[in-house]
Amino acid sequence: MEETLRILVVDDDEVDRMAVRRALMQAGVKMELSEAGDGNKALLALKNNTYDCVFLDYRLPDQDGLTLIHRLRASEIKVPLVVLTAQGDEQIAVELMKAGATDYLAKSRVSSETLAQVLRNAIRVYRAEMQASLALQQLRESHEQLIRKNQELERQRQQIQLQNFKLIEASRLKTQFLASMSHELRTPMNAIIGFSQILLRPKFGQLTHQQRDMIERILNNGKHLLMLLNEVLDFSKLESGRLELKAELFNLKTVVNATIAEIQSLAEAKKLSLQVQINLENPWIFNDSVRVRQILVNLLSNAIKFTEAGSIWVEVKELSGNRVAIAVRDTGIGIATKDFKHIFEAFRQVDQSITRKYPGTGLGLAIIDSLVRIMGGTICIESQLGIGSMFKVELPRQISSPDEAGKVPALNVDGENIFFSAHNPHQSSPQSRPTSTKYPNLKL
Ligand code: ADP
Repeated sequence: MEETLRILVVDDDEVDRMAVRRALMQAGVKMELSEAGDGNKALLALKNNTYDCVFLDYRLPDQDGLTLIHRLRASEIKVPLVVLTAQGDEQIAVELMKAGATDYLAKSRVSSETLAQVLRNAIRVYRAEMQASLALQQLRESHEQLIRKNQELERQRQQIQLQNFKLIEASRLKTQFLASMSHELRTPMNAIIGFSQILLRPKFGQLTHQQRDMIERILNNGKHLLMLLNEVLDFSKLESGRLELKAELFNLKTVVNATIAEIQSLAEAKKLSLQVQINLENPWIFNDSVRVRQILVNLLSNAIKFTEAGSIWVEVKELSGNRVAIAVRDTGIGIATKDFKHIFEAFRQVDQSITRKYPGTGLGLAIIDSLVRIMGGTICIESQLGIGSMFKVELPRQISSPDEAGKVPALNVDGENIFFSAHNPHQSSPQSRPTSTKYPNLKL
């Protein structure tokens, strides 16, 4: 050991102290050696100084080694402690070790080698113990820190949960407000539409060209507003999970052709060609025909709205796994890839400015997305800015009817042989339900 060690020898016997001193010197230990003749002096020295090792005679005049060790521990004095015992004190030595002594050595075995060996070991053991206790202390501290952090996290989690509850409640109130507001506004709006239609009837009386033009504007604006209200109502119903599909067996080809015929004039007004390709060996599907029509109308109105020149294609085909696909493609303005995920969010439009060129609520795709989801289908988009867009909806040929929970209607499609059992003939006519289908380019 190269460092100078501070050593304290505690023994009332001058001869024994000298023996220890001599042995350590013979062993070549570089040291500063102090001596104490009894336990109290040793305690005082240890309180006022730091030592690298203490050699302690077990039998001191004022107290035994065990008492001194206890007093040292009580004063929180930590030091490597080697107890020098008399012959036959081995049992006591075990007790001393238990109390905290680092090692013991019988006085009869004191020699330069044994003492140097015991000293080295005692210092090594003590340092290892100190390191371990430091690590333990650090562990305890980080454990306590973790507990504190955990408590903080738990407090934050509870706060977030509370805010979540508040947000859910606010959203519920908003949905409720939207639903009742749009519902209430629909009644006067229907009156406006109805009375303008009556006014336009020839048998009601002759109108001047200007009067007819004004009533047509009232009618068109009324229809447009009703469409917006229905869109908001549909959305609020979908958001609160109150929209139920009224499933029935219907001919998809017929519904698609009828929808195209209805919307054809809008495409013609913009000089867009509208082409349809229906490849269905079996055109029968079990779904909500009104909602399927709504999906198609919304996709088509968007295609017409966002296309200035060129064509719109509708393709309907069968897919594997008893599914059907409806795709609407256009040569319109296109959508940047970064906007794909946003356009399906409610009230989101690529152009959010108030001066935007294309009108709309930003609810159409959100409604389609929700409808497709509750039908168990998917919607995907392919688009390139300035080139055009393609929206493709894939639907199961047969959706499970919520009215028939637990007994899904059986639709056995075997070529042209269709068997359907569970249709409710008393179900209200789907056409009588108001839905939000968009007709762009209304004369406002
Ligand atoms: P709205 O048409 O009322 O704005 P939608 O939810 O139907 O709302 O559409 C959201 C947005 O997605 C549109 O505002 C538009 O930016 C973009 N979009 C939808 N369909 C098309 C399309 N065929 N071509 C280009 N952009 C489209």
